[in-house]
This record gives sequence, C-alpha cells and structure tokens, in this order.
Amino acid sequence: MQISEYLEKYQPTIFKTFVNAKNDGKLSHAYLLSGSIGMPLKEVALFLAKSILCDDPKPLACESCITCLRIDEGNYSDLLIFDGSEGRIKKEDVIKLTGSFDKTALEDKGILIYIIHLVENMTPSAVNALLKFLEEPGRNVFAFLTTENESKVLPTIISRTQVLRFKEIDRQEIINNSVSAGVLSEDAEILSGFYNDANTVKNISETEEYKIAKQALDDQLNALLLSSDDAVFTCQRLVVPSVKTNDIARLYIKMLAEIFKDLLNLSVNGNITLKSYDNILRELLTKVDHIDKSLLIILSALNRLDVNVNVPLLLDHIIFEITKEASK
Ligand SMILES: [Zn+2]
Repeated sequence: MQISEYLEKYQPTIFKTFVNAKNDGKLSHAYLLSGSIGMPLKEVALFLAKSILCDDPKPLACESCITCLRIDEGNYSDLLIFDGSEGRIKKEDVIKLTGSFDKTALEDKGILIYIIHLVENMTPSAVNALLKFLEEPGRNVFAFLTTENESKVLPTIISRTQVLRFKEIDRQEIINNSVSAGVLSEDAEILSGFYNDANTVKNISETEEYKIAKQALDDQLNALLLSSDDAVFTCQRLVVPSVKTNDIARLYIKMLAEIFKDLLNLSVNGNITLKSYDNILRELLTKVDHIDKSLLIILSALNRLDVNVNVPLLLDHIIFEITKEASK
C-alpha cells in the first residue's frame, strides 16, 4: 500500500489536517508525528516532506516528478534525515543540522526540511540544541519529528510542534491485511499484538530474529503443557541458548505476553485473538494457575529489558515465576 493510500484510508484526520493547511498556505514549521511501535511514522514524515517539495503536488506528493524521485534516492540536499532507530541522536548531529541550515538553501526551491525519526532517542544535550533551533525557525524551514512513545518526549518539544496523532488500526484488520500479504495466520495474529501495521508485521515475520523467538516460544509453550520441570528444563536447554540478544528477547517476551493476555481473555470471557493457538491456549488454561500474576511478571520483565539486564537470568526468572505459581 502506498503511503498516500495509507494516510487517506487509516489516518484521515492527519490527511485532512495536512491537506487543508497546505491548501491554505498555513503549514506549521514543526510537526510531531505521534504513534505506536511499528507504525509507518518515518515513511509518513518523508511523504509529507516530499509533499512540500514536490514539483507537481496533487495536493500531496506526486511520487513521480524529478524532485520526488531524487528524495526517494536520498539525493536532495535540502532534506536532512536523522534516524533515532539507528542509534542515539547526538548533539553533534543537531549541530550539523543547524550548521547546514544557517547557510542558504542549495536547491532552487529555497525550502529546507529536516526529519528526526524517534525524537525520544536523542541525548539530552541534542534535545537542548534542537529546542533552540525549534524556537527560531527560518521562514522556509520545516521540521517533521516522530515518536513511538509520546510520554518520553519533553513537553517543551511538544509545545513547539503541532502534534499529529496516529489512530490505532483495528487488530483484526491488521491480521487480515497481513495474511493477504502472505504472512502466516499464526504470525499475523501474534505480531499484530504489538505492531499496528500490516507492512511492519510482514517485515518482522521474515526476520531471523523473529523466527528464533517464535521457535523458542513454541518450545516453551509445549514444555509448559507437559510439566513445570519440563518448562524449566526447556528454558535452560533450548530457550536461553537461542534467545541470545536483547532484540530477540524483547520479541520473545512480547509474544509470551500476547499468549498470556489471550489466556486471560479465554478464562474471563472465552474470546481469543490468537485463533491459531486455540488448542494450546485451552490446554494451557488447565495447566497454568494465576494467569494474571504471570502476565504481570512477563510485562515487568519487558520493562527490565530496557535497563541493562542479564537476559538468561531474566528468561529463567519468568519461567520460574510462572511455574512456581502452582501448576495444577
Ligand atoms: Zn512530485
């Protein structure tokens, strides 16, 4: 799906707000695109930036003029992109940005645009440097900032930008779109729990990290069905050796959380989202006690991954706590 289609269909408020502002010549100098993990924030930021620069906007980027094509190739000098998903954005990066924008625009249009993807991944000194820049934007300077976690963005940044908040898409629709795109149902069902975008679900489902995490999850669940001892043994012998990095651990724990959320749903009202796991969930329900407490333990383990933590110990701890809660 093209980003323009995505905006029009799933984010109509953002679409209308931006189109109206553009038509009325009332664009803000700084936008903050706020959404959740996996949403196409960077892609939308780039598309909106392109819409300002496009030679033949209709009224958004045409995607086929020379300027649109040059931007796609990363070959347009007056558009700078800093990507917080590739590592922390430092003060030097912001100085590089402000330095190049002190000079006049290089391109004929005379418009300078910068994108900062995931502002929450800026160092405090980088944020300070950025704030000064946001306070005194040049007449033809536009900024598109993005965040997957608005609560981690300083209020001083939020107050200097116009916030465009992304709407969550219905989970069943994400599952359907992912499956139409070729993703297995079981992968689509579980990944849609924490990626609110079919394209992201598809990309993640194809990564080696996901395949490892998924195998570890299946091994762990099967062992839980056998006995507490099997569960602990499998964790040490199969899960810990394969879940080697923080990224794989994060995926694995998030998936485990989805299983326990559905287990809780099943015990309360009989409804489940992970239909491919129907049999396993029903059997687990007869084996695992204190589902709500186990879910809390899993979710708090996820938070502890953000601080430097020993991953093998953390994985062991989760299974120890789940099985300790009196397997039936
Ligand atoms: Zn164009």
